[in-house]
Amino acid sequence: MAAKKGHELRPNPRTGRYRLISGNWKMNLNHLEAIQLVQKLYFELRDVDYGFAEISLHPPATDLRSIQLLIESDRMRFSLGAQNCYYEASGAYTGEVSASMLAKLNVRYVIVGHSERRRIFGETDEVVAKKLAAVFSEQMTPILCVGETLEQREEGRTDDVLMGQVRAAVSELPGDLVSTLVIAYEPIWAIGTGRVATPDDAASGAQLIREELTTLYGEGVANAVRVQYGGSVTPITAAELLEAEGVDGLLVGGASLDADAFARIIRA
Ligand code: PEP
Repeated sequence: MAAKKGHELRPNPRTGRYRLISGNWKMNLNHLEAIQLVQKLYFELRDVDYGFAEISLHPPATDLRSIQLLIESDRMRFSLGAQNCYYEASGAYTGEVSASMLAKLNVRYVIVGHSERRRIFGETDEVVAKKLAAVFSEQMTPILCVGETLEQREEGRTDDVLMGQVRAAVSELPGDLVSTLVIAYEPIWAIGTGRVATPDDAASGAQLIREELTTLYGEGVANAVRVQYGGSVTPITAAELLEAEGVDGLLVGGASLDADAFARIIRA
């Protein structure tokens, strides 16, 4: 459905960047439950709600085809997202899904290097860098997740960790690609814990990320990259986090499984 006049997606007038609010469903909802959630979210939102930020939905891989068909047949203004992919194009990699398979489903955004993938599945910075390149090679946009643990934070290593993760992920890529990247600053101590970072924490994470990008590619690229905040975002905390300096959107886990809560976050 075409956007009604005046309800087109608008960039943030302060930064010129388009905001992005993403729902990461993790390993939740089969394809039937997923359809119900997307329909519910669609009915909750009004035309005006789509003007503030692009909305991407990241269901589990088994739901992607159903959600793709639903979004396209009803012309819903949601972008389809995936939670992960493998970096090889095809071959004997049992259980994996390639970037080209996702692109064929019209996936637009792929989360790469989520802390759960790094911690539980042992994804290294090297693997994350390869996945980033694979996603770009299929003309999709990666959402690169970076963030420090509580221990690293308490040891005063937040700067090193964030800047190191950004550098390791992007440094082999040309600046024109990097400028299209989305980076989610997700302090690990805030993910799924109910413990939300302050807007100042979110702003300082975004600033560190852009400082590293400036060192690597210059200010033009650093100012083009969109930075999301992620970690226990709720309808109550969303507005002030979205107002934080340098923050261009949100990556939402648990609250994106509830249509009403996610709609309230989008309206924030
Ligand atoms: C996430 O896992 O990306 C996330 C932000 O989760 P939650 O909102 O549940 O903390």
